[in-house]
Amino acid sequence: MAPSRRLTTIRKLRITVLDIIPQGPATSLWARLMNANMASIMAPVVALWCEQAGHEVEFLAYTGFEEIDTELLDRDLVFINSFTRSALLAYAISAICRRRGAVTVLGGPHARCYPDDAASYFDFVLGMTDRSIIHEVLQSAEPQRPVGVMLSAPKQPETLPLLQERWKFIEPTLAKAPVVKLVPMLGSLGCPYTCSFCIDSEIDYQPLGFDRLQADLRFLLTKFKRPRVGWHDPNFGIRFDDYLDAIEEAVPPGAVDHVAESSLAILTEPRLERLQRAGFKGILPGIESWFGLGGKSKTGTIVGEDKVRRVAEHVNMIARYIPYIQTNFILGLDVDEGAAPFALTKHFLDLCPSVFPAYSMLTAFGEATPLNLELQREGRVLPFPFHFLDNNQSMNVRPLNYTWPEFYDRLIDLSEYSFSWRAIGARLRAQGINLPGTMNVARAISSEGFGRVRYHTMIRGLLDTDLQVRAFFDGETTTVPQFYVDRIRTKLGPYWEALPEEALVHDPNAFAAKHSLAMRSAS
Ligand code: SF4
Repeated sequence: MAPSRRLTTIRKLRITVLDIIPQGPATSLWARLMNANMASIMAPVVALWCEQAGHEVEFLAYTGFEEIDTELLDRDLVFINSFTRSALLAYAISAICRRRGAVTVLGGPHARCYPDDAASYFDFVLGMTDRSIIHEVLQSAEPQRPVGVMLSAPKQPETLPLLQERWKFIEPTLAKAPVVKLVPMLGSLGCPYTCSFCIDSEIDYQPLGFDRLQADLRFLLTKFKRPRVGWHDPNFGIRFDDYLDAIEEAVPPGAVDHVAESSLAILTEPRLERLQRAGFKGILPGIESWFGLGGKSKTGTIVGEDKVRRVAEHVNMIARYIPYIQTNFILGLDVDEGAAPFALTKHFLDLCPSVFPAYSMLTAFGEATPLNLELQREGRVLPFPFHFLDNNQSMNVRPLNYTWPEFYDRLIDLSEYSFSWRAIGARLRAQGINLPGTMNVARAISSEGFGRVRYHTMIRGLLDTDLQVRAFFDGETTTVPQFYVDRIRTKLGPYWEALPEEALVHDPNAFAAKHSLAMRSAS
């Protein structure tokens, strides 16, 4: 159904923009320290665009520690930004808002990955979002039910409002971060690399304008004595010299601290010297696997032990320039097989004691990448509720080369090794007792380290003792095991009652079905 155009912008709308960060009310130390630093770039941008269009806007970044005031939900229009992991909370909040008469809109990664599912729970579902898409929603802000309208711009916006313009929506969120405050900034979109599991591999690389980036950095220096910027670029430094020229010209060396995700291939020694001078304090390179994806780590076709040695040397060189390094790994890729991928990661940690390892289990997020189409056609994608699709609580792709018990045994062994007191002590000794060293300890003993070891161990136990769970993992049933339903109920807390029951299940093969339909109609 096309959106009605009967209402026009002459009506001043009361709007809430809600950026949902966690899966529900939060309690952990790590969530308290870091959730506010995970706020999105786009939610404040949408709030600003609505305000500039003449509407009354309230903004909240929900970090899991606030009460969401009913007044915020009692509006004409509620925009919600959500990852897939927090989608069920977003669905529950949308249901509350719709009961109170609001029109609801979903944007963010979940809307892009699962648009058809989200359209059953929201009036509008936004893919690529620019100002004209927001204006279209504002002009047709009427209920669209039972199936919401999906809108998407042909590409990502060419430019975003300046930080100064968005600041009123960002500052209250930063105030919630008790120790480390990372100002979210974005200098580019997309990535020229083609990692098959990554949503950004499908977006053309595009810088957002170096003059605007300079204005944002200069503005920040009026707000903090020594600001810390968390760059949200999918792969920082693709146009390295242009980027660093812009930063060096805008602010004095070291006046701003920076944290960014960047490929090893970008991080050559001369560039690291420059990054160090510019104030880069944290780098998060993706290694992903010892048996593939060699392009981004500049190891080409070298695999296995040789790749470990080459990458370890590179990472230790980075550590001479950048104090905080997190290396990212994907577990369960089809290129991995047997004990070697896990044993090699342990060996790498021994060679690079200062790095913090971040593990993600292979996850097929709806229509994020063409790889998901293949996995769905092969029947390998499992219908784990969205709540568990955070790369850690479940792996929704049946591994090609492991049984589930074998995979979990190896995962637990690697996690215990990575977050053992021995490894924690080695990291602290390598880092020293300073902010990066303390952060690493906090991460390891909180939900990210100890918490995950406990969780994976519990799942491993259920694979042996809970027939429902085992049948679900093996793809023999699509009925969500009671264990998972109970966890969602507990985590959503007061929002559970509002969650539509059918939201617990989704079609894991919706992308493949839609694609086949489109092919048939085209032929
Ligand atoms: S290098 Fe990083 S951002 Fe680029 S496609 Fe690969 S995983 Fe995605």
